[in-house]
Amino acid sequence: MVNVALLAGANYTIFQVEKYYKGHLELLVPVPDAFIVYRDPYDIQENGKTPDPSTVHIDYNADNTFRFNKVSDEHYQIEINDRCLWFDSESYVRTVNCDSTTVWSVQCGLFDGSVYSECYIIPNSGGLVLHGGINAGLITVKNDWSVSNYWAIKQVGKTAYPMIDHTYDAIVVGAGGAGLRAAFGLAKEGLKTACITKLFPTRSHTVAAQGGVNAALGNMSEDDWRWHMYDTIKGSDWLGDQDAIHYMCREAPQSVIELEHFGVPFSRTPEGKIYQRAFGGQSLNYGEGGQARRCAAVADRTGHAILHTLYGQSLRYDTTFFIEYFALDLIMDNGVCRGIIALNMEDGTLHRFRAHKTVLATGGYGRAYFSCTSAHTCTGDGNAMVSRAGLPQQDLEFVQFHPTGIYGAGCLITEGSRGEGGYLLNSQGERFMERYAPNAKDLASRDVVSRSMTLEIREGRGVGPEKDHIYLQLSHLDPETLHTRLPGISETAAIFAGVDVTKEPIPVLPTVHYNMGGIPTKYTGEVIKYENGKDVVVPGLYAAGEAACVSVHGANRLGANSLLDIVVFGRACALHIAENLKPNTPHAPLPADAGEQTIANLDKTRFANGGNSTASVRLEMQKVMQSDAAVFRTESSLQEGVKKIDEVARKIHDLKVTDRGLIWNTDLVETLELQNLMTCAVQTMHSAAARKESRGAHAREDYTERDDKNWMKHTLSYNNLETGVTRLDYRPVISTTLDENEAKSVPPKVRSY
Ligand SMILES: Cc1cc2nc3c(=O)[nH]c(=O)nc-3n(C[C@H](O)[C@H](O)[C@H](O)COP(=O)(O)OP(=O)(O)OC[C@H]3O[C@@H](n4cnc5c(N)ncnc54)[C@H](O)[C@@H]3O)c2cc1C
Repeated sequence: MVNVALLAGANYTIFQVEKYYKGHLELLVPVPDAFIVYRDPYDIQENGKTPDPSTVHIDYNADNTFRFNKVSDEHYQIEINDRCLWFDSESYVRTVNCDSTTVWSVQCGLFDGSVYSECYIIPNSGGLVLHGGINAGLITVKNDWSVSNYWAIKQVGKTAYPMIDHTYDAIVVGAGGAGLRAAFGLAKEGLKTACITKLFPTRSHTVAAQGGVNAALGNMSEDDWRWHMYDTIKGSDWLGDQDAIHYMCREAPQSVIELEHFGVPFSRTPEGKIYQRAFGGQSLNYGEGGQARRCAAVADRTGHAILHTLYGQSLRYDTTFFIEYFALDLIMDNGVCRGIIALNMEDGTLHRFRAHKTVLATGGYGRAYFSCTSAHTCTGDGNAMVSRAGLPQQDLEFVQFHPTGIYGAGCLITEGSRGEGGYLLNSQGERFMERYAPNAKDLASRDVVSRSMTLEIREGRGVGPEKDHIYLQLSHLDPETLHTRLPGISETAAIFAGVDVTKEPIPVLPTVHYNMGGIPTKYTGEVIKYENGKDVVVPGLYAAGEAACVSVHGANRLGANSLLDIVVFGRACALHIAENLKPNTPHAPLPADAGEQTIANLDKTRFANGGNSTASVRLEMQKVMQSDAAVFRTESSLQEGVKKIDEVARKIHDLKVTDRGLIWNTDLVETLELQNLMTCAVQTMHSAAARKESRGAHAREDYTERDDKNWMKHTLSYNNLETGVTRLDYRPVISTTLDENEAKSVPPKVRSY
């Protein structure tokens, strides 16, 4: 038995190794999960002398550490690179491969109460560093262990993870369209603002948006924002909050003109006005006046133009950017958001950002699915940060499948291609959408078109050798139109499908595209929770863009309403914060332990040494989501899905990360992203299984009708990946507008196109 006594130390606490029991080294180190031992040239000595290397053999990691992993409450295992250290009762220290059945475990027990309390210097921080150095005395690895050996123990938080503190009036996490619009809106109001982003701003997924942005500008025909509002409410299948939809559609024309003034190079009509194309679900005169042309476009590269322009604007104002910083968690203090903690991916330093207001604009979580149009970086980080803070997600079961992802590759072919006159064909050369949506045809809303395509394939009318996809025909369009209005997708089709769109159809398949659900907010951008039947604002926290659920899209988003959503609600956050916060308002100190749990998770993840690779668990999650939370859903597929996704989620505790470093550790970051995706995936599946109706993108084969009596309500979901517990609650849909005199609410009716 080796007992460890606590001795005094200047910067660290020294533990004395007192006794040795043959075959076991029992260290009295009550460390929560793991601890690291740092190598020092002098740290291994035998009877005061550096031993002959042939008799003592200890390997170290490249960074001169080896690590004790907790394998049970009582046992630690020492891990060095991929090997485990073990004690041989006859000789000295040996190393064996981890796969070997012979592993050495260090028993952990308690010497006395005082040691116990002293050792929890930083509870849950991922452990303590055992520093065997000159200061600490000697460590003798020998059978007749003497009483005069010391370990010094240091706090991981101070040594291995330097923490840098920053203070701002407001911070924005994310530099896509929503984040940039919020960030420079805040800076413009004189607030000291930081924008923290894991990607360089212009690499955010907004850059990939093609089709355009809706606004009732009336450039192509008479238009009215109330008609746009009607279409959006209908598109949402009456799950959207009508106050927020009122706000968005009313603000749309001036928001698009503002974008034009910022410098967005919109395509033009012959008379020089902003060009607007036809887009799905857009009508004139409350659904009575036929197809509207409301979607303002920059050829088929609208998101690219908007994102670059917004970035340009943000440089005009004094926004401080922290680029390639990965936000890890919110810092919550008694229910108030006080900022965030982030990892600088370049050098591994940790940063605490203290702010009065935090805006989450981290985008969607499309990558929870196997086939999606969104970037690999769309991993629901902001959503997961909110879930980890014990706050709800809203309506995650509503996942939009875009009808035209390229078969196989998943890349998007914009709805604008149908807006310009393209149409879908089955294997019989039939324009089948005429049967499903006699009026809107190929421009019915996306959920309707995706379901129709799926039915055609199911009924044996798919194209290709496997009859498993559909054709999108564009070759009848004027080559000039293709060249000026759809140059991007012409190129995408050539690269990813090998198709010349002037001659051949593009093979397409419905592909996951957008998350209607997200962090619940008011139309001001303030994040809300729901308590005792009431919406309650979470002080200090805002969300905007695809990460948020305002909810303007309800059960189904209309194409070109998201680019609108990001600029309108990014701006709304900035306006509301500016109204409620004076620049340079003093800050209270952060709680002393702010961010500790986050460091614990980071450290645990970095040294994770379980049985599954991050990529394999991610793939498993994506496959479950793709097959069981699909275009069509049934009780059996959803119940099966819940079981399977909960099983996959448990594997998050048995991952293996191979890169132990902190400099550009993409292995670590992808694993953190997988944790984030997983909590979103689990909540999506549970929410979907619970909703026993069909509404918008949530189409059940066993409950084919919308059920307003029982289900016209938002799902709220809570998930704790640690415990594996998922909980659901519901809050009512807001069916009143901001001002009934200005725009009347739209009562529910059957949705047809
Ligand atoms: C291919 C494609 C085409 C589309 N076309 C259209 C269209 O034509 N019209 C339309 O209205 N909508 C379209 N959409 C939808 C729309 O583009 C997106 O919903 C919208 O751009 C999302 O913007 P965002 O600002 O919320 O997030 P994003 O643009 O995804 O930006 C997210 C930001 O958050 C940051 N971030 C994320 N996690 C972290 C973290 N942990 N730490 C720090 N930073 C983080 C990222 O760095 C990034 O800057 C399209 C979507 C796709 C995928």
